[in-house]
This record gives sequence, C-alpha cells and structure tokens, in this order.
Amino acid sequence: MFDTLSGKFSDIFDRLRRRGALSESDVNDALREIRLALLDADVALPVVKDFVAKVKEQAVGAEVLRSVSPGQMVVKIVNDALIEALGGAPSPLNLFAPAPIPFLMVGLQGSGKTTTSAKIALRLKTRERKKVLLASLDTQRPAAQLQLEQLAQKAEVVSLPIIPGQTPLQIAQRAMETARREVYDVVILDTAGRLSIDLALMEEVKAIRAAVNPVETLLVVDAMTGQDAVTTATAFNEAVQITGIVMTRLDGDARGGAALSMRSVTGAPVKLAGMGEKLDALDEFNPERIAGRILG
Ligand code: GDP
Repeated sequence: MFDTLSGKFSDIFDRLRRRGALSESDVNDALREIRLALLDADVALPVVKDFVAKVKEQAVGAEVLRSVSPGQMVVKIVNDALIEALGGAPSPLNLFAPAPIPFLMVGLQGSGKTTTSAKIALRLKTRERKKVLLASLDTQRPAAQLQLEQLAQKAEVVSLPIIPGQTPLQIAQRAMETARREVYDVVILDTAGRLSIDLALMEEVKAIRAAVNPVETLLVVDAMTGQDAVTTATAFNEAVQITGIVMTRLDGDARGGAALSMRSVTGAPVKLAGMGEKLDALDEFNPERIAGRILG
C-alpha cells in the first residue's frame, strides 16, 4: 500500500532538497507534481485541491523560501498537511457509554465487515478486557450468520445463538436484551451488505440504527476499491451518520488514496486498519505513522 505514491513523493522531495535556494516557481512545479501523484493514487479531487491549496499557502511565503533549508521546510509542510488529511491524531473506539454499548457495523458485501466484526471483538476482549457479544443481522446471505458464529469461535468470543426466521431488527433487539441480561460490555451488530448501495439496504440499516441507538456506527470499506470507497462512504454517511471508518485490505497493493480522502469527505475519522485475513490483523489507524510511510 502507498508504494507508488511514496516513490513519487520521494523523487519530488529529493529534487527539492538538492536545491539550495527555492524560487516560487520551483515550489509551484513541485506542487503540480504532488497534485498529479495524489490524483494517480486515487485521492478524491476535492481533497487533492484542498491539500495542494493548503501546502501552497504555507510554502510559498517569503519566510520559507528565504530559510536556510527551504526544501526541508516544504517537506515538513507536506508532511503536516498529510497528517491533517489523514485525520490528525489516532481516534480510538468510543467505549465511554453505559454497558451494553452497541456498535453497528455497516458496509457493502465483501468489504470485510464480518471479519472486521470478529477482529474488533477480539481486540476489545484482549486489549480492553471487555465482555463482547457478536451478532449477525445478515439474513440475506444464507451462510452469513454461520460465518460470524465460526469467526466468533475462533476469537473465543460469544455469538448470539441463531434463531432461523427472525428479522434483522428482531435479532438486534434480542442481542441487546441478551447483553443486558447477561451483562455484556459491548454488542457488535454485523448488518447485511449488498453488492452495491441500494435503497433497501439503507432503509434496513436506518431502522436498525434507530432501534438500537449505536454508540459507534462503523463503516467498513475496502481500500482496494479506490474512488468507489469514497462514493460508498458518502452514501452511508448521509444515510446513517457514521462515527468511524475501518479500512480493510491496507495490507494489499492498492494505491491507497481512499485512506487519504475518507476524513475530508465524511468528517468521520478512520479508526482502524485491516491488515490481513487473520483475526489479529487489525491495527489502530495512525495518521502520523502513515504519513511517515508515504513520505519515506
Ligand atoms: P463481508 O461480506 O463484508 O462480511 O466480508 P468478509 O468479512 O466475509 O470478508 C471478505 C474476504 O475479505 C474474506 O476472505 C476476508 O478474509 C477478507 N478480508 C477481510 N479483511 C481483510 C483485510 O484487512 N486484509 C485482507 N487481505 N483480507 C481481508
């Protein structure tokens, strides 16, 4: 992930650093290249425009150009702007609510939603010592509830017993009742996905959200889908006001631009990063570390 972007940035910065003095047009040339590199990495156009404008505003000032090492200063400005675009500081899951705390997992089919639900359950169990209940509300795909049950077993987390014939809303309500009765800290509700955004999906998710009032509504998006990930995030955010994003397949070789666009486009922070198929392959999304990786 980010390899191409990182390679391009390192070329641009090498050239900047090699020059002792920088003119305004040197900086403008570099900015043009940065713009192209970001667009090529699938960063959404408005985000690229905003990014370049911010860097320009700071980098073209006389103070920077007359400084001892202007190239370094420009690199620092780009680094800070990248961190800001990626969301600034890491954003942990919100566990500050009375138990049982409902988390609603939303996203398209195949985004990694079910795997991520189990990963989060495992993470909360091992790192936060939380008692977690997993429940699949996916009555669309016949094997979905079984899949979550199997993943829960692997993670050694309890999953809500499957009762055939219940609607997603009924399952959500039963999960919350069970959690109250059996004193769970967190309930992770894995909703059904569709291959693409459709009205029925959004209406279902909206109804569940209204019924359980989740503390976190986490959108799971596949980083490999590039610009489509941004479209998906916009649609879900409009329908159910997401509180955070989990980007999956950041271990893959996608160009990575979606990770850079998410915060600006939705206003919601990317909280976690899926780094593989295994249940412990879930990392905190750390903007500073990612900016470091992009800039090398
Ligand atoms: P869902 O349809 O959204 O519930 O998607 P699943 O959880 O079934 O995941 C679909 C596939 O993606 C599975 O084979 C997962 O193992 C895989 N997957 C999920 N997250 C990641 C990730 O972060 N990295 C990689 N490489 N694979 C992932």
